[in-house]
Amino acid sequence: MRFTYYEDFLALVFPKTCCICRRSLFDFEKLLCKICLSQLPVTHYHLRPEDNDLKSKLTGLTDVGRVFSFLRFTKKGMSQQILHQLKYKHKPELGNLLGSIYGRILLDTFGSPWDVVTPVPLHPLKFKSRGYNQSERFAQGLADVLEISVYTGLKRMKYTETQTNKSRWQRWENVETVFEVASGSSLEDKKILLIDDVMTTGATLAACANTLLEAGGKSIDIAVIAAGRM
Ligand SMILES: [Zn+2]
Repeated sequence: MRFTYYEDFLALVFPKTCCICRRSLFDFEKLLCKICLSQLPVTHYHLRPEDNDLKSKLTGLTDVGRVFSFLRFTKKGMSQQILHQLKYKHKPELGNLLGSIYGRILLDTFGSPWDVVTPVPLHPLKFKSRGYNQSERFAQGLADVLEISVYTGLKRMKYTETQTNKSRWQRWENVETVFEVASGSSLEDKKILLIDDVMTTGATLAACANTLLEAGGKSIDIAVIAAGRM
C-alpha cells in the first residue's frame, strides 16, 4: 500500500508525459498519449509484403521473403521523434510498446508463421554506452504478441563507422562481413523474422540475412520500425 502512495507521490511531482507531444498522460496511457498513438504514420507494407520498395532495395544483396516497415520515416516527423526518444533519450520501453502494437497488426494479417525473432545486434561497445539495443526491444515486443522467442545469437564482430554519407556499394562493403552467429546455436530450418530500427539502403539487413541463411535459417522476413527517406 505504501508503495502505491509513493508512486502517486512521484506521479504528482514528476507527472508522466507523452514522449512526443509532452502532454501529461492518464493512468491508462503508457509512454504515448491516445492522440499521438492514433496519429502514428503507420504504413501498409504488410498488405504488399513481397512487392514493395523496401523489398526492391534488397534485390541482389540477399534472398528474403516479406519486408515490412511499421512507420513511414519523415524528417522532423513523428517517426523521427520516436526514433530519437528510443535511441538517445533512454526510452527502451518505447521499443517494446511499438513492437507490441506492430505485433498485433502482423498477427491479424499473417497469424504467427515465424519460429524466432532476431534483432540486428549492436556492437558490444555501443550496447554498453546505450545500455540496451533498441531493435532488441522492438523484437521483444513483437515476440510477446506473436508468442515466439527472441534469438540473440547474431553477433556484430566489427565496429563499423557511421553509414551516413557512404554510397550504396560502400555501405555494403562496410558491413558485408561484420556479422556472425554464435557457435552452438541452431537456426536449422528456422523461419526467422529479422528486426532493425530503420532501413536505409538495406545493406546492414542484407548482411545479417545472409549470415542467418548461411547458419541454416530456412527463410527470412524483415520488419523495421521505420523506413523512408532518411
Ligand atoms: Zn502525445
